[in-house]
Formats: sequence, structure tokens, C-alpha cells
Amino acid sequence: MEVICQLLSAGSDDALKALSAELARSQAFALTARPSLDESGDALFKSIPPHHFVYPKRELPNPVEYRQIPADDVGRWFQAGGEFERAVPDFEYRPEQHQMSVAVAEAFNGQRHLVVEAGTGIGKTIAYLVPAVLWSLANKIPVVVSTNTKNLQEQIFTKDLPAIARVIRAPFKSALIKGRSNYLCLSRLEQLLSHREAELAEDQLLPLAHLCAWIFRTATGDLSELDGGAEVSDRLASTPEECRGRKCRHYGRCFLQRARNLSINADIVITNHSVFFSEPEKPLALPKTAQVVFDEAHNLEEAATRKFEREVTAYSFNGTLRKLHHASRRRESGLLHRLRELLFANNFLDAAEARDALYERLGAAIKHADKLRLSSRRFLKGVAGLPRKEESVMRLRPAVHASFAWSEIVPLLQTAQDDLYALTAELEKIQDLCKGPEDAPAEAVAALPEPVADAIRELGVLLSALHELADNLEFTTAIADRDWVYWAAVSRDYDGKPIGGLHAAPIEIAKFMAETVFAKKESVVLCSATMNVSHSPAFIAHRIGLDLVEPDRVTSLCVGSPFDYRRQCLAGVPLFLPDVAGSHPDAEGDYTAAFATFTGRLAVLSRGRMLVLFTSYRMMMTCAERLRADLSGQGIRLLVQGGGQSREHITSLFREDAPSVLMGTDSFWEGVDLIGEALSCLVIARLPFDAVNDPVVSARSERVAENGGDSFREFALPNAIIKFRQGFGRLIRHKEDRGVVVVTDQRIFTKNYGGSFRKNLPAELVQYADEATLLAEAARFLIPQHKAIS
Ligand code: SF4
Repeated sequence: MEVICQLLSAGSDDALKALSAELARSQAFALTARPSLDESGDALFKSIPPHHFVYPKRELPNPVEYRQIPADDVGRWFQAGGEFERAVPDFEYRPEQHQMSVAVAEAFNGQRHLVVEAGTGIGKTIAYLVPAVLWSLANKIPVVVSTNTKNLQEQIFTKDLPAIARVIRAPFKSALIKGRSNYLCLSRLEQLLSHREAELAEDQLLPLAHLCAWIFRTATGDLSELDGGAEVSDRLASTPEECRGRKCRHYGRCFLQRARNLSINADIVITNHSVFFSEPEKPLALPKTAQVVFDEAHNLEEAATRKFEREVTAYSFNGTLRKLHHASRRRESGLLHRLRELLFANNFLDAAEARDALYERLGAAIKHADKLRLSSRRFLKGVAGLPRKEESVMRLRPAVHASFAWSEIVPLLQTAQDDLYALTAELEKIQDLCKGPEDAPAEAVAALPEPVADAIRELGVLLSALHELADNLEFTTAIADRDWVYWAAVSRDYDGKPIGGLHAAPIEIAKFMAETVFAKKESVVLCSATMNVSHSPAFIAHRIGLDLVEPDRVTSLCVGSPFDYRRQCLAGVPLFLPDVAGSHPDAEGDYTAAFATFTGRLAVLSRGRMLVLFTSYRMMMTCAERLRADLSGQGIRLLVQGGGQSREHITSLFREDAPSVLMGTDSFWEGVDLIGEALSCLVIARLPFDAVNDPVVSARSERVAENGGDSFREFALPNAIIKFRQGFGRLIRHKEDRGVVVVTDQRIFTKNYGGSFRKNLPAELVQYADEATLLAEAARFLIPQHKAIS
């Protein structure tokens, strides 16, 4: 409370001061009489209960020693009149769920991998969780479940697993582990509290006070629990560079370490693909396991690719440089400054000569860091000039080295590299000087005063970050590995001017997946509502390397949705709108204008309750501008993706009672679960082919062609079909849902590939030659709902 009051009272706003005074009065203390922030900060940290670390030595049994889980044992939980039906009031027997659950159990029993397409509404999470729990209990080994989205992670952990625990009535431990950056770092918080005056603007004190108050409530330290205050919470998330692990004084209360501790000891661990793919390199968070379930598995290729991406951006330089040294008008901060102060305060070097040498080196390192700050910025500004003016991304091929544009940045690159090497060389000398003449790291550092030893360890971490940065700089500018794709991307710097970044990603991840996942795990279950293209999982299996596994180790299953799409959904394609991909110069503008007018009319008819999916941000914003005033005049709220609001927040606004139209691009095509009448009308603006100027997409297309394949039929089309199916699936989420889907891209009928989209949908598409007929039929279809509302 003292911390919070002091933060509030430091703000200039009178209301904050009044609130602070009120809080202080209610606690019957006067701020002036209270301990310093440091002391009260200590009390704040001590309010977090310490946890006790347990390091299990669970060895995985040899496969022949596994205890099997009989299919009958699994089935009895699901069957009509079974355990779930008796224990869960709204549980319904679904044969598809039963079938999937038995298939998962058989995959575990037979040490095989399983690919399942599970239609929306079958209850697939329960279908794999039950055999996973039974397997874990029978064999006393953990099973890891990995999802693509945090939403699904949360749902499984807070809803599905507790439901299973209630039914199974056998104790099992479950844990949820997210990526490091989701957790509050107490060490960073401590530093920010100590330097709040220099580091924070006045309007950031309130969010910080809010965060301190939240610490008393949270059991997880998961920053996503906080509403708002992103600008402060971003600065307090745990980072690998700053984490001192067991040497951290908050280790015993650290939220991240607590989550890892729970995860390592759990029977069922819920994680996400990103954490899962970090494990081979940094195995910290997940227990040893031979059985893994990937949900939302259609995203695995993208998730694995993102994890391996290498990049050099302004943040790569500035993040590390700021930690080394930062000077503002009011104060100096950073490790080099701290070391200089420690040198005087602790006198940790015996010989005056060594102290002088170190002092000099620290000064030199600060100068090198300043030089690198400037040269890296100049270099990245140069990189921003590589893409053509109107484009923000440019694929880099080896031939770019011969271009004039590249020749202009070569000297800038050379200077940045020289400055980077000079800085790391200086830091290595400082490291040697601090440790003493003998290179005996552990013993030498152990003998030093604790703050000095801490600083030296931190120096080691920052040096590693700089070495990695140097490697990435070399790798992304060499453009030499033909299994990687390279590109330059332009964003805005803090001054609003363009600044470039260099990126590289592996073109294929299939071999990696085959070697590190499918060959190492005994049983991997991959499931999603959209695993198949034309009723076959071959496309995804190929993309993720499952076809490199011995065929007798892989089985597949497709269980359809229990929904009656004929009854629940009207799906139409307006042929009266212009062709979205017309070839005349104004085609896009004509289409956007006509699309916006039609969508506005449909929104009025459906009284909002409409989700519009776009493939282009620009088109979405143009439509939003055209429709905003008209919709508002009709009492319909327009919610548009972006503006710093999370998908979850926008979706929760949409769920409120007010008639709304929600417009979104990429991330809204999947993972948005709007059950009931909140969503009654879905508009798909365009068939979702990946952008051809996306460097990863273009490199993958080329690789398919190089291997003798048809890049459109074997790559672009199946990817678009999977995304289209995901988008289409947003409308009907429950057996009582009803609604209208309008696909405004007529290519679904006019192009010969259109049939591939149509036959992958659960509903028949109707063609409408005129708007009046479409609107009249949509109105008829939606009327029963209108009545139900009134
Ligand atoms: S252990 Fe790492 S993440 Fe946890 S509080 Fe310490 S520095 Fe932060």
C-alpha cells in the first residue's frame, strides 16, 4: 500500500493526489511517516508467497514397459449414459468425440503419431485430454499439450481440465506455462521502482501503481491479467537477457520460475507452440515427455518458422546498448555506469594500476557503445532505402549485392560491424580485468562482492547478446544459405522516419520437425478443425515433415462436425459486385466502394452482429471510413482491428449487447469464438491467398516449383483453402447457432480453382445475381432470430 500511495502521490494530477490521500487515510498512515519506497518495496515483494522448488527425476519408461489404456476404459467416459453424461449437466453424447478419444488412446498405446481433423463442435479438447490424463496417470509420466493461441491454452486450463478432474475423480496435477515475456519480472520491477523518477513520465505512475496493487491479487504474475498499462507492463516482462536465474534475489518468489516449477512437476502441461519449439535449445519449462498433443496444428509450420527467424532491427541494437549504457539529461544508467560506481564503492581491484585500467576501459566501452548506437542507426536507415518507395518489404537475393542500392549501404554496414567488434572486444577486456588476471571464471567471480559478481554475470549475458547480434548481422547480410529466405523490412523509428530491419527464416521446417519432434517423441497427436484439404491431411503432413516418418507410425482420422449446416446457415455469393481481381486500373477501388455499400446494407438488415474478414488492412480501413457514419446513424457500432487494442478486447466489446460490426484481418480469421446471436452474419471480403510479396511465401512457392511441383496447386491453393475454412468456421460455433455467410469474392465460381474452395466447405454456396434477392433471403433467414431477440 505504501508503494502504491507514493506512486500515486508523485503524479501531478490533483485527483491522483486526492486518491492517494484517501488510500493513505484509510490505512491510517501518513506518507511522510512511512518507510522509504525501498523498504516498502521490499514489503511488496515479501507479500508474494515463496514457492518450493521440486526437481523431479522422472525417467521415461522404455516403450515396452508402458501400461496400455484400453479403448473401453476411454470410451466409458463418453458413451451414452457414461461418466460425463452423468456428471456434467449439459454434456451430450457425441459419437465423433468418442471416436476421436479412442483413436488418441490407441495412438498412445501403439507409439504412433495421429493426425485428426475434428469438425467444429465435437468437443475435441476433451476428446484428447481424457486419454492424455488416463495415460499420464497409468504411466506416471507427463503429457504435454501445445496450442497456437493463448485463448485456447486458457480455456483448456481453466475450463476443460477442471471439468475432467470433476468427472474422473482421480487426482492429477496440471500446469499452464506460457512464454517468458508473459510473466512479471520482479527484478525489473524493483529497478523501475528505484529509478521511477528518471525512467517514467508522470502519466505512467498510475499504471505502475495499478500493477503494484495487482501483485497482491495475482497468483500467476501473468501480465495478460492486467487491464491496460501496456506501456509499463512491457517494461516489466521477464527477458532472457536480464534474467539472472538462480542468482536473482527474487528467484524464490519469481512468477516465471514458479510457473516452470509447476510445469516440470505436472502430469498434464498446457503450453503453446512457441514455448514448445524453444525447448530443444533452452530446455527449461517443459518436463521430459514422449507423448505430445498439438492442437491448432495447422499453424505448426508458421509457429516453428517464427521461432527460427533471425533478425537485426533497431531494437536488436538499442535493447542491448541501453542496458550497457544510457545517459539522459537527468542521469546516467546501465551496466557500464554501474560498474564504474562499483569500482569506487567496493574497491574490488587490489592494484591501483588495475583499477585505473578498468576505469579507462569502461570509459572507452561507453564511447564504443555511443559510436555503435549512431552507426547502427545509419546502417538501418540505409536498409530502409532498399525496398521500393511504396513497399515496406523487399526480398533479398544474392544478386542484391551487385546493386547500386546495396553498394551504398556496404560502407555503413562495415562501420557498424567494426563498431560492434570494437565494443565486444572492449567488453571482453573489461570482463577479464574484473575477474582478475587468471581466467578462472567461477572461482574468481565467487570471491567478488555480490553486486560486482552480479554485474560481471550481466556483462557476460550482454556480451552473448552482442555476439549473437554480430552473427545475425553477418548471416542476414551474407544472403548465402539457399535453404533460408532473406528480406529487408521497413518500419517507423521513434522520430517517425523510416528505419529498416534485416530478417532471415528457414524455407522448410519439415526436416527439423521430422528429426526433432516426430523421431524423438513416441506419439504425437496433431489435431485441428482444418487439418485436411479435400479430405486428406497430405498437404499439412508434407509441410511439417510427417511424410518423412515411416508410414506405419502414422495414422489419421477425420471426424465431421455434428452441426447441421444446411439448416443452420445460408451461404451466398453475390455475383452483382465487381470482380475483386479485375484487371482494369480502378478494379480495387471499384470493388471496395461497391463492397462497402453492400456490406453496410447487410449490416443494417442483420442489426449489426456482423463479422467482416479482410485480407488487406488498407481495404479494411477504406471500408471502415466509408461505413462509419452510416452505421453510426443506424445505431450500429463499428469495431475495427488495430488502434492498439488486442483482439480479445475488441471481441469482448463485440460480445456486448450493442449492435456491432467487427472488421478484422489476419488474426480474426481464426481463434475468434462468438457463440450465439452475437454473430449472425459473416462477410468474407476476399479469398485468402497469401500475399505473393511475402518473402517466406514467395520462397516456399519457388521451392515447390524447383522440386518439380505446381506452386499454385500444391502450395498457394491448399494454404488459402485452410485459411478460408477457418474463416468460414467463425459463424456456426454451436448447434443452436444460425446465420448468413456472404463470400463476396466471385472467383469462387468464376475461376476453375473455385471448385476446390467450394468442395472444402460444409455448406452449399448459392449464387445471387441481384442484391435485392440476396438481401430478401438473408432477411427471411435471420427473421426468426430477430423475433427471438425481441
Ligand atoms: S528470476 Fe529472472 S524473471 Fe524471475 S524475477 Fe529474477 S530476473 Fe526476473
